[in-house]
Amino acid sequence: MTNSLPSVAIPSLAIVVPCYNEEEMLPKTLATLLALRDSLLTKQKITNASKIYLVDDGSKDATWRLLAEAANQNSALVAIKLSRNKGHQNALYAGLCTTIEDITVSIDADLQDDPKNIEAMVDEYLKGSDVVFGVRSARTTDTFFKRFTAEGYYHVMKKMGVDLVFNHADFRLLSRRALIALQEYDESNLFLRGVVREIGFKSSVVAYERQAREAGESKYPLKKMLSFAWKGITAFSTAPLRMITVLGLVSGLASFALILWVLGVRLLTENAVPGWASVLLPLLFIGSVQLLCLGIIGEYMSKIYEEVKRRPKYHISDVIKKFE
Ligand code: UDP
Ligand code: MG
Repeated sequence: MTNSLPSVAIPSLAIVVPCYNEEEMLPKTLATLLALRDSLLTKQKITNASKIYLVDDGSKDATWRLLAEAANQNSALVAIKLSRNKGHQNALYAGLCTTIEDITVSIDADLQDDPKNIEAMVDEYLKGSDVVFGVRSARTTDTFFKRFTAEGYYHVMKKMGVDLVFNHADFRLLSRRALIALQEYDESNLFLRGVVREIGFKSSVVAYERQAREAGESKYPLKKMLSFAWKGITAFSTAPLRMITVLGLVSGLASFALILWVLGVRLLTENAVPGWASVLLPLLFIGSVQLLCLGIIGEYMSKIYEEVKRRPKYHISDVIKKFE
């Protein structure tokens, strides 16, 4: 069988793995990823300069000792230690900023996202994609709760105007130029999943079934999950601020109607209790004016927020120029 891939220079590959208290999982993870690297090398899909970057996110167990030992023995491994626990996204970003290879794949240390798919991702890159999203086709191994909350989240984000790839987490391939574009996003609340959509470039999808975690426990308890979800919304959407304005307008209209009613009862009938109208009218009026003002402040704040993020305005993907 002939190889149908076009003749692009063989790329060097970096695999970035954030690790937090993963001592139980690491021996298997390292062996699997090294075997994968070997097999891709044999198939001549990646060069010998390919490396696996393991980022210890301030683990409290033996993770760093294991990583340091492994990296001391094997030049294909690079161990990086963060000064303290900074969370999955920051650990991942630290890894991404350290690689120098042509393509970078990020993957979780528990290998719930089967690393076998990295080969398909590299193929997509060789076919011309700068970004390849790993997408979970089935979540059969997730609990009902996790599946329900996770999938609901993608829908809510979409409603708020945030462009996410459905069921894509942080298993993805980035070409060098996509990674450079990503690093131009200076915001400290970096929500990687959103930003990779934002940068554009040609992208494609590799679908796979997510496996159950083999060893250790999920490092994403409900509290962290909620805070991550909220961070994603506030980093990418000013819809919650806009909602205050809408609420202010709606309550303004409603209280206007109520004010008419109060005045009607007070002036046209005999049954208004003394003091009733003079308490209710200012209450309704001030309440809705306050909400509306908060909304207006929110509108300006959202503009300031967009400005301070200083997002790059564009990334060039091709230039064609004829030299005389
Ligand atoms: N992780 C990390 N820092 C943290 C929490 C998690 O680097 O503070 C890593 C963890 O070691 C794993 C990945 O992030 O490689 C995803 O975590 P986990 O598998 O526990 O999340 P889940 O799959 O349950 O969403
Ligand atoms: Mg996991």
